[in-house]
Amino acid sequence: MNLTIHRGSKEIGGTCIELQSKDSKILIDFGLPLIAENKEPFYSRKIKGQSVESLFQQGILPQINGLYRNESPQFNAILLSHPHPDHYGLLSFVNPEIPVYMSRGCQILIEVSYFFGQFNYELENIKTVSPWKEFNIGNFLVTPYLVDHSGFDALAFLIECNGKRIFYSGDFRGHGRKGIVFENILKKPPEGIDYLILVGSQIGRTNKGKYKTEQDIEEELSHLFKNQKEQFFIACSSQNIDRIVSIYRACVRSNRIFIIDPYTAFILDQLKVISPNIPQFDWGENISVFFVPNSYTERLSEDKSLFKFKSAKITYEEIKAIRNRAVIKDSYNTRKIFAKRKDMINSILIYSMWEGYLKESKEFWEKHQVPIIEVHSSGHAYIEELKDFVRAMKPRYIIPVHTFYPEKYSEYFEGNIKLLKDKDTVEL
Ligand SMILES: [Zn+2]
Repeated sequence: MNLTIHRGSKEIGGTCIELQSKDSKILIDFGLPLIAENKEPFYSRKIKGQSVESLFQQGILPQINGLYRNESPQFNAILLSHPHPDHYGLLSFVNPEIPVYMSRGCQILIEVSYFFGQFNYELENIKTVSPWKEFNIGNFLVTPYLVDHSGFDALAFLIECNGKRIFYSGDFRGHGRKGIVFENILKKPPEGIDYLILVGSQIGRTNKGKYKTEQDIEEELSHLFKNQKEQFFIACSSQNIDRIVSIYRACVRSNRIFIIDPYTAFILDQLKVISPNIPQFDWGENISVFFVPNSYTERLSEDKSLFKFKSAKITYEEIKAIRNRAVIKDSYNTRKIFAKRKDMINSILIYSMWEGYLKESKEFWEKHQVPIIEVHSSGHAYIEELKDFVRAMKPRYIIPVHTFYPEKYSEYFEGNIKLLKDKDTVEL
C-alpha cells in the first residue's frame, strides 16, 4: 500500500492524503490552503474563474492524475473528515463520478455553505456514512470514528488494507461538547495501529486561553451575563455548533436572550435532524431572531425560508427595550445598524473566535468604545490531549500532518515519527 501526502505535511490547511493499493485509490480530505506559497494568508476568492492549469502552476491544486473533471477517474472515493473548507474546499474540481463519503452533519453544513454562496459547488454523488459502521472501498475497509471538534459531526477514519491498520485522526480535540468520544477512544482505542496520521494544529503554538473546555466557556459567559448590566454583542462562527450551544446555555442560566440572525437560525434548523439538543429559534424566551438586512437574509427571503423564523422575530426597538438582557450575535451589518443609531454605549463585545480574525473589526469596536473580552477555546487538541491520544493508540509510527512543526513531534511523542514531505510516496 502506498501513501502520499499531497499537501499538509508541513502546513495547516489544504490537507490532501492519498492511499493506493493495487487498483484501489482513495483520497482523504481535499481542502483549500490557508496559506499561500509566499506564506501570506490564502483567500479562497483567488481561485474564482481560474483554469485548472493555472491553479496547478500556482501550486493551489495538487497535480493528481485521475482526480479532476475531464479525465477518466482513477479514484474509488474521497473521504471527508469534516465540514471545514481547509478539508473540503477544492471539491468543485473533482470529477463528479468519484463518490464522496462524509457524515450527514458534514453534508448538511457544506450544502448550507453552497446555499449561501460561500462555497461554489453543489454536492453530488454523496455517500453518507455513520460513525463506527465500517464499509468497503475497493481493497480498503474503512471505519469512521466520531470525534470531538469545532467542525460539526467530524470523523476520524480507521483504514485497513493488506493486514495494515492506518488511523487518520482528522481535526479533533477532547475538550468540546463531545469530549466523551475522546475519552472513549482513550479507554478503548483501536488496537494494533501501524500508522497514526496525526493532525497537530496546536504543536508549536503558544495558546492563549489555554486548556479551557467548552464547559468553561459556558461558565465564563454565564458569569459575565449575570454580573454585567451591559448589552452584549458576541462574535462567533454560526457553524461552530458547540459554541452556539454554550452561548445559548449561558443565556438560559443568566436569563438573557440570545439574539441570532436568520443565517444562524437556518443552520440550526437544518441540523435539527442530527440532534434534538441543538438550540432552535422557536425554543422560547431565551432565543430570538433579528432580521438583519444582509445578503444571507435576502437569500432566505428569496427562497421563502425566512418566513419560518417570523414567530421568533425581534425588532431593533424590541431589542432596545430589553437591552440589558440582550446577547446579540455579531455580524458586519448588525454592528453597523446599532452604531448608526448611536446605540453602542454600555455595550461589551465578547470575542469568541480565533483571535486572528479580530483585526477585521477591532478598529470598529475601539472607535465606538466598546470593550472587548475574549472568551474562546481551541477547536483543536491541546498538546496534553495529543499526548494522551498517542499513549492510548500506541501506533508503530506517527505521521505528522496539518501542522507547521512536524519536526517537533519527536519532542512530544515517544515512538517512531515518520516525517514525510508533500508529494513523496512511501510504501506502508
Ligand atoms: Zn477543522
